[in-house]
Amino acid sequence: MIDSKKLIEILKVTAEKIDAEKEYLTKLDNDIADGDHGINLAKGYKAIVAKLDTMEGKDAGAILKNAGMTLVSTVGGSSGPLYGTAYMKAGAVLKDMHEISNQDFVKAFEAAIAGVKMRGKSSEGEKTMLDAMCPAYRALVESLASGAELKEAMEKAVKAAYEGVEYTKTIRATKGRASYIGDRSIGHQDPGATSITYVLESVLKCL
Ligand code: ADP
Ligand code: MG
Repeated sequence: MIDSKKLIEILKVTAEKIDAEKEYLTKLDNDIADGDHGINLAKGYKAIVAKLDTMEGKDAGAILKNAGMTLVSTVGGSSGPLYGTAYMKAGAVLKDMHEISNQDFVKAFEAAIAGVKMRGKSSEGEKTMLDAMCPAYRALVESLASGAELKEAMEKAVKAAYEGVEYTKTIRATKGRASYIGDRSIGHQDPGATSITYVLESVLKCL
């Protein structure tokens, strides 16, 4: 069970992880695109953390909506709107909730994926963050359905996300800046798939 307090902790832990990996993420982005992903995302999460004190006592929906809006306004490039939409869509599902059941968590994750697909006009297999999110979501749902606790299910989800990141090395980018280099993107892992995997790993760390 994740409550609002835990959600605030998750966002802080996520911000620390993204900050720790920002150079690596930027290097990944530099290999196939413009090399701004890690630096930009770290800036966005820093802005989220700066506002978290004002979020204490608020419901999960409000916290995520605020986080999403902050990402949209502080992160440049395509990942700001994409990450921001994911958080805002998840926040809409969790509106007025102070405690998030496993079922609501699944629904919020599903809405986040739908938000990225809608915003990015993208789908799985295009070498984007969706290639980590979608397999992670499926692993989560499958594990919960088999009776696992959220922590165990998230362990499976994170493992599936890392496998998704590996898969992005084998395919060509057809969305985002990396698509400009076509086949030369093959062999490189997608920065957005990598960063979203860190986000999921940060959730797991707090469970
Ligand atoms: P930009 O490409 O504008 O420089 P970033 O470098 O911050 O933005 O983010 C790049 C990441 O965004 C990619 O690695 C990919 O995972 C993700 N991305 C880009 N375009 C899309 C899209 N249309 N749908 C989903 N994810 C996308
Ligand atoms: Mg970039």
